Parts: sequence; structure tokens; C-alpha cells
Amino acid sequence: MSPDDRRDHAPSLTVRFAADDRVAPFAARGLATRLSAMLGQPVAALAAPALAGHRLVVDLDLTNPAESHAAADQLAGDSFRIECDGRSIALDGGSERGLLHAVGELFEDLGASFAPWRDPEFPAHLDVARLRRVASRTIVPAFDRRAFAADLMTWHYQDAARLAAHLAHDRLFIPWMTARGMNAFAFIRHAQDTQARIEALNPLLEKFQVDAEYGGHLGQLLMPRELCESHPEYFTVAADGARTTRGNFCVSNREALAMVRDRALALVRERPENRLLHLWGADLKHGGWCRCAACAALSPQLQYMKAIDAVAAALADSGSEIRVAYLAYHDTLEPDSALRPRDNVWFEWAPRERCYAHPIDDSACATNRKYFASLARYLEIFDGRGMVFEYYADAILFGGLSFATPAVIVSDLQAYHRLGIRAVSCLTFGAFSVFAYPLNLETFARASRSLGYDPKTAAVEIARTRYPRCAATMTEAYRAIARGSAMALRYGDVLRPFNQQAQANLPALREAHRCFAQALAAAEHLMAGEGASMLAAERELWRLSCDALAGLAAYVAAHADDSTVRAAHEAAIGKIATALDRMGAIAPEFKGTWGSYDFERFKALALDRLRQA
Ligand SMILES: [Zn+2]
Ligand SMILES: [Zn+2]
Repeated sequence: MSPDDRRDHAPSLTVRFAADDRVAPFAARGLATRLSAMLGQPVAALAAPALAGHRLVVDLDLTNPAESHAAADQLAGDSFRIECDGRSIALDGGSERGLLHAVGELFEDLGASFAPWRDPEFPAHLDVARLRRVASRTIVPAFDRRAFAADLMTWHYQDAARLAAHLAHDRLFIPWMTARGMNAFAFIRHAQDTQARIEALNPLLEKFQVDAEYGGHLGQLLMPRELCESHPEYFTVAADGARTTRGNFCVSNREALAMVRDRALALVRERPENRLLHLWGADLKHGGWCRCAACAALSPQLQYMKAIDAVAAALADSGSEIRVAYLAYHDTLEPDSALRPRDNVWFEWAPRERCYAHPIDDSACATNRKYFASLARYLEIFDGRGMVFEYYADAILFGGLSFATPAVIVSDLQAYHRLGIRAVSCLTFGAFSVFAYPLNLETFARASRSLGYDPKTAAVEIARTRYPRCAATMTEAYRAIARGSAMALRYGDVLRPFNQQAQANLPALREAHRCFAQALAAAEHLMAGEGASMLAAERELWRLSCDALAGLAAYVAAHADDSTVRAAHEAAIGKIATALDRMGAIAPEFKGTWGSYDFERFKALALDRLRQA
């Protein structure tokens, strides 16, 4: 039979899968369907009793089938192997998820393109010869836990239309996570949240093998506020000596501690799919912890650990293998050397106000030097059981402006990995983060699997997927945004140029503005020839960012000049307000629920703070 004759016989290719695997049939059918469409010929997915483990075999030549590939060895967790001998391609995963990630890698190798703002795109045509040339490889992810996180309230789950808008984003984002080899999503609860998860997402997370993690700022939830009338002694004593319902709870009160423990255990029991309990205190900068006579001797860290320890001990006793996360953040960011965590307690280090212009281990950066030293001490106290919670796509920290810091992200992840950390997560704000921080999401996802990822390629990759017809110009524009970001992101919240940690530097802000103006000019130039809505939206966000940076520079300059300070101050705040108003012109499909519904309230608070500073 000649190759030409063979084309008439169906099917000429098969994808065989291990029938007893939970994910392999789904992966095999997806692979067969896509290959069939690209090759223009039938490809059958067949259960193969002889195959064991998390594996698929694509037979490229049924008249001359390959001998059975050796069974997978030495693969664990999300590791996977792609092996091609010209006649077949074997995909092996260290786990069900590893196998799914192998399929994503193979698709990308064959020319598929994945982006978190649209459906995957596959080449219209593929030649079998291309399949025969697939390079063999074994991928072992650099980090074991590669997670994104988001605040539950940004789903607006009490409003059906807003929730639906967010879910439309999630249905693109979660498959993209799997294509990039991410493996967990943490849902962060705040005091006002009435639920722990987004129920509608569970089937999607399960299908794409993304672990769900619950918890967050549980301080108020674990001690119901309505008990304050009958049991004021369960609550914290504030700095003024009075009991308050604003903080967490009094850990010196035995009944209060038992109640917190039992409620935390109930959360774990009721949500068996939860893989990590983020047991954090109230989201308050200072305090939230108790100053009663019994607690006063304990630092916030030790009070917090007392609650964590009660929960962790009960979980261990019950045989649960779930980890408990102790949040190192705000008043617990510095470790207390008297902390004695149990083996099932991991610290989760959240350096929100660090400098994002320099890598976390850059000893020349005074801000990051302090942070990095605290991380090293925490690792000692916790015997290496540490996780990092990063803010590379935090719309609030970044003031709703566009930023890109791919080089810092890669350096950070390398530094975290060198310290022995194997669990990282990045906070996101749904569609807004995808729109405003595409380079950062891409870089975080790529580099948390492969530390050798070249951060310079992030601009190329995003420009190519977003704007294939003007990729070169947009690559340069993204690089200008990255240069500007390195000037602006040195003092924590971008719209708080004066704060306790650091103060904005005027020449740096002016330089940031100049870089953003370059990116904006490039987008303006392209807009002359294009009506593309993504470009229009991104141009608007860059104009907002550019104008807001000019306003911030004027605001910082006014501080330095006493004689005209009030008028100049007001004028600068007016400039910033006008810049931020531009968010209104950006289409909801790009700015998401955060840009559509949360930004207004955030803007008002940020402007108020600028007036008071
Ligand atoms: Zn107390
Ligand atoms: Zn710095």
C-alpha cells in the first residue's frame, strides 16, 4: 500500500489511552479530535487494556506500529515525558494532571496558541511528517504548587449578571492555566463574603485538574460577630482598652479558641475538594489581634500561631493531610523567633509592599533587603515549609494602571527556588489582570514551571498573540511599559506615593511617565490604521496610566514645594482623577468585573488618601 492509498482508509492514526486512568480518556479524545481537524483525516481514540498508568500513545503509522514504549519511570507529580520515535508519540504523566500538561505541551509544539483572554487557536493544517519530528523531552516543574489566587468578592456572586460576566472569563482562564501547567487556584474570603467558593467553577477545575484552595481572611468568620452581645470576652481588646468586633478574637479565652478550632474544622469537612486551608486573620494593617491582660505578652505572630496551632493539632489528630497556611503579612510579616509551628503548618509569605522594580534578592535595594531577610528567618523557623504569595497582577497595588515586570518575576522565582521554596502563587483580579498585566501572568506561569524562561520573550509572545499584524511595534511598546514599570514600582501602592515603607522618587516617576508615553505613542500610531477593540482598550489603559503617572509626579513635586503646596496639590490630584476617569471608556469585556464595578470605589478611596497625605 502506498502512502497515497492509505489516506483513503479511515482511520489512519489512533490515540490509544490507558482505560483505567481518570483523565486519559478525556485527554485522548481531545487530542484525537484536534489532530483529526488539523490533519484533515479521521483519528480514533481507543481504550487500550495493555497501557497502564497515566499514558497515551499516538500511533502515526498503523501499518507499521511501534513496539510498546517502555512504561513510565521516575516521573512524579506533574512531571511528564513526550517521547517520539518517528512512528509513534508516547505521552506519560507522573500523575493524571501531568498527562494533561503533556497534551498541552504537545499542542503548543505543533503550533497551537494559548492565551487567557480567548479560546485556544490551532493551526488550520498539519502534516503527519510534522508529528514524526516532535522532539522528545521530559519536563519537571520547578515548583510543586503553581497557583493563582483571587478575592471571592470580585466575582460579585450575589448579582447573576456580574457573576456570569466573571464566569465567561474563568471559562477561558482555567483551561489556559492547564495549558501553561499551573495546578491550583486559591479563593480568598473576606469578612463580608457569604460563601467559600464559586460553586459553578468546581466542574471546570476538576476537568482541567486545577486544585481548589479555600480560606482567606477568616478572622471574623471563625468568631461570629453576633456573639459580642453575650460573650464580649471572646473578642479582641483594641488599643483604647475596649473590646471590639473589628479584629479577630481573643486567643487567651479557652472557649473562644475552641470555637475557632471547631469552625475551622467544619470548613475543612464540608469542602472535601479543598487542598489547602488558608487560615488568615482579618485583613487589617495593624492589630486585629488582642491587647487584653492575658494576650498583651504575646506578639501578633504568637497570638495568631496559637489559633493556627489549635486547628492544625485537631486536623492532624483527625487524620487529615491538609496543610494549614500561616500568613506572613502586615503585622506578621516579621517572624517572631518564639514561633513553634507544627509539621502540617506552612507559612505563606506575602510581601505586598516590597519593591517591584528590583528582584527580591537584590541586596542593593534597601526595601527588598529587609523583606528577603525576613523570608530567610521564616524558612529557618518553619524548617523550610514556606510558600510565597506574590502580587504581580494586583490591580489595587498597581492603582488600576498597566504595568509589566517580567525580568523581576523570573529573578524572584529563581531566588525563591534557591532558598528551597517550592510553592508560589500570584494574586489576580479576573479579566482585569489578564487585560492589564498580560506579560506578568505569562511570565509567572511559564517561569514557575521552567526557571530558564527568558523574560525578554514575554513582550514578544503577548504582542504576537494579541496583535499578530503589528507584533513588532507592540513588542517595543510592551518593553517601554516594562522600563517605565521599573521606575514606578518602588514604593508599594502606586497611588500612595508617601507611606511608611518608602517614598516615591520624582525623577524616577518622570522617567516612568516618559516610557509610558512612548508605548502610548506606538499604540496611537497603530490605531490610525486599525479599529481593533483590544488595541483601543489597551491604548486607553496606557493613556490612563501615562496621565496618572504625570499627575503623581506633579503631586510629589508639590510636596517638595512649600509655598504653593495646597493649590499644586489639588491640581495634581485633579490630574490623577481625570486620568483614572478614563477607565469608563474601556469596554467591560476587557476590564472585567473589577474594572467595571470595583474600580470606582477604589478610585474614590485612593483620591481621598492623596488629599489627606
Ligand atoms: Zn486576649
Ligand atoms: Zn527597589
